[in-house]
Amino acid sequence: MRYVSTRGNAPELSFDDVLLAGLAEDGGLYVPTHWPTFSDDELRDMRALSYQDLAVRLMGPFVAGSLTDDELASIVNRACESFHHPAIAPLRQIDRDDWVMELFHGPTLAFKDYALQMVGLFFDTVLERRGERVLVVGATSGDTGSAAIAALQGRKAADVVILLPRGRVSEVQRRQMTTVDSPNVEVIAIDGTFDDCQALVKALFADIPLRDDLNLAAVNSINWARVMAQTVYYFWAGLRLGAPDTPIGFSVPTGNFGNVFAGWVARQMGLPIDRLVVASNRNDILTRFFETGAMRKGIVHQTLSPSMDIQVSSNFERLLFEVLDRDGDEVARLMTRFQETGEYSIDNDLHQELLGLFRAFRLDDARTKDAMRELYDATGEILDPHSAIGVMAGREVGHRDEGTPMVALATAHPAKFPDAVREALGFEPEVPRVIRDIMDRPERITELPNDLDALKSHLRARRAAQ
Ligand SMILES: *Cc1c(COP(=O)(O)O)cnc(C)c1O
Repeated sequence: MRYVSTRGNAPELSFDDVLLAGLAEDGGLYVPTHWPTFSDDELRDMRALSYQDLAVRLMGPFVAGSLTDDELASIVNRACESFHHPAIAPLRQIDRDDWVMELFHGPTLAFKDYALQMVGLFFDTVLERRGERVLVVGATSGDTGSAAIAALQGRKAADVVILLPRGRVSEVQRRQMTTVDSPNVEVIAIDGTFDDCQALVKALFADIPLRDDLNLAAVNSINWARVMAQTVYYFWAGLRLGAPDTPIGFSVPTGNFGNVFAGWVARQMGLPIDRLVVASNRNDILTRFFETGAMRKGIVHQTLSPSMDIQVSSNFERLLFEVLDRDGDEVARLMTRFQETGEYSIDNDLHQELLGLFRAFRLDDARTKDAMRELYDATGEILDPHSAIGVMAGREVGHRDEGTPMVALATAHPAKFPDAVREALGFEPEVPRVIRDIMDRPERITELPNDLDALKSHLRARRAAQ
C-alpha cells in the first residue's frame, strides 16, 4: 500500500515511511491511495475470528509491502497479550438497542492502548530492520503519555521521553508514567502548563539539526498507524451485533477526531455503519461545525473530561480530504485559512452530505454528571465522564431506526477519574489491580524549567551517555 498527503504536495510513501514520518512534508496527513474493501460474504466469514485474527485480516492490506503476514500476526498477538480481558474489547448491553464497548482493558485503562500497543511494536520491527534507533518525544496532559510509555517501555529500537506539566496531572496519571522502571523511558516534569510542554515539543521538532541528530519521532494521534489499528474494534462490535446484515451506529467521545475517523474508515472498508455520533464536552468546535458548516476555533475550557479539551481536531483534515474528492489543493487552502483566521466553512451541499452520516452532540460538566448518575441508576454501569458523554450523545441523536444497535465507545476506565465519579455518584469506583500496584512503587522523574535550551542540552547529554 502507498500513502498520499491530504495536502497533495508531498511524496507518496510506503507504510513504514508513513509510520516514522508522522506529519507529511507539506503539513498534511497521510492516507492510503485507496480503501481496501471487504464483501458481505467476507465479513460474514470474519464473525468467527478472534480479535487478534480479525485485526490481522483488516490491517493486512494497509501494511502490505512493509510487513509480512507473519510479522503482522506476531505484532498483533504480542500487543494483545497486555490486555486484561479475553475478549479485548467486550460489549455490554445497557438497553434494548444501546450497547457500550469497553475500550479500557489495556495496560493504562484508556482506549489509546488499543492502537499504541500495536504502534510500539510496528516501530520496533521497522526500526530494527533498518538498523535505526529513534527518540520518541511527546507532551501529555494525561492519557497519551502513559499509553505511549506502556507501548514503548523495554523496546530495543526506541527511547521515549514524555513531558508533563508539573503538579497538573492527577496522581494516578503521573504514577502510570513515573513508576515504569525501564532505561529507555524518561518522564520530565516541566515547570509550566500543558501548552508550555507542547510548545517545547514543537520547538524541538522545528530545530532540524537537532531533530536529525537525535532522530526524533512522534506517536501523536495524527499518526496513520493509530487510526488504522482503531478500525479493528468497529468491525469487532459490528460483526458481533449482526453486520453485515444489520446496519450499526456508533457514538464516539471526541477530541482530535482520530477515533471517530477510524469509524468512517471502517465504513469505507465495507462495515454498514449508518450513523456516527461525534460527542463532545464544552469544547464543542465539532458540534458547532456539524450544526453550521463552519469550523470556528474557540478557547479551550477545562472540563471533567480533559482528554477532549481540544479546539483543533487535527484528524478532521483526513475526512475533509475525502469529502472534497481528494482535492489536496483545496484542503491546503482551507487549512491555511484556518491557521490565519481561526475559521473556514464548507458549502451547503457538502454540509448536508455529511449530515447523512454524522450527528454531533455536546454535554457540559453539569449534564455530564447528570448523565453519569442517570446511567448508573438505570443500568448499574459506572462510566467515566468521557464515556458517559458518548453514551448520552448516542441516545440523544444516534438512533435512526428502531432495532438498529447503537454502540457507544467507553474510552476510559472510571477509576482513572475517581474525583468526577465521586462528584456524580457520591462514591469512588473500585480501583483495579493495575492501579493499586503503582501506588506504592517508587517514582522516577526529572525536573526541568520551562526552557528550551535546558531541555535541548538535557536530551543531548542523554544521547551522549548512551
Ligand atoms: C484521547 C481520548 C479521547 C479523544 O479521542 P480522539 O481520538 O482524540 O478523538 C476520548 N476519551 C479519552 C478517555 C481519551 O483518552
